[in-house]
Amino acid sequence: MDLYSEQVNRLVEQLGRLPGIGNKSAQRLAYHIINMPEDQVKALSGAIISAKENVRYCQECYTLTDREICPICSSKTRDKSTIMVVETPRDLAAYEKTGKYDGVYHVLHGAISPKLGIGQDDIKLKELIVRLRGDVKELIIATNSGVEGEITAMYISKLVKPTGIKVTRIASGIPVGGDLEYIDEVTLLRALEGRTDM
Ligand code: ZN
Repeated sequence: MDLYSEQVNRLVEQLGRLPGIGNKSAQRLAYHIINMPEDQVKALSGAIISAKENVRYCQECYTLTDREICPICSSKTRDKSTIMVVETPRDLAAYEKTGKYDGVYHVLHGAISPKLGIGQDDIKLKELIVRLRGDVKELIIATNSGVEGEITAMYISKLVKPTGIKVTRIASGIPVGGDLEYIDEVTLLRALEGRTDM
């Protein structure tokens, strides 16, 4: 016997596709949504659709933006000859919060992981290599400090070194699974300032 209405099933199924949402959580969320005031539900679904329609990758650094080129890449005051490589837009936001970094970024959207079957072609690496044809003096690799982040850092270093561009690695950056809201800016700044040649 089907315990729920077809509509509720559909909602549970869609919510259950989100990362970290199991069937129980999906059911709980579905009931919550059904009990929400209609204007709130419309605001939520509207925000989802408009984010999906308007947010895209910056054509230079591949962070998420609603413009062709993000505000950082289009800024006249940023030093384009220094590129910091990060795994996610959230990592970029964490370093940006320090207010002390005036270079630009490159967002990989992941890290190489043999365990998860994520190879070099699954992240924005080719796009990074294309950018290096410009006037780049230093590449700061700020991938996370876990196995995947280290593999990715090594891979990029080997790839870039023959070009003569200086490759550095931050001292210790964003820990894996660390909640960025709790990583203080001083720690990130210290990691950045303590970077060493690879
Ligand atoms: Zn950008």
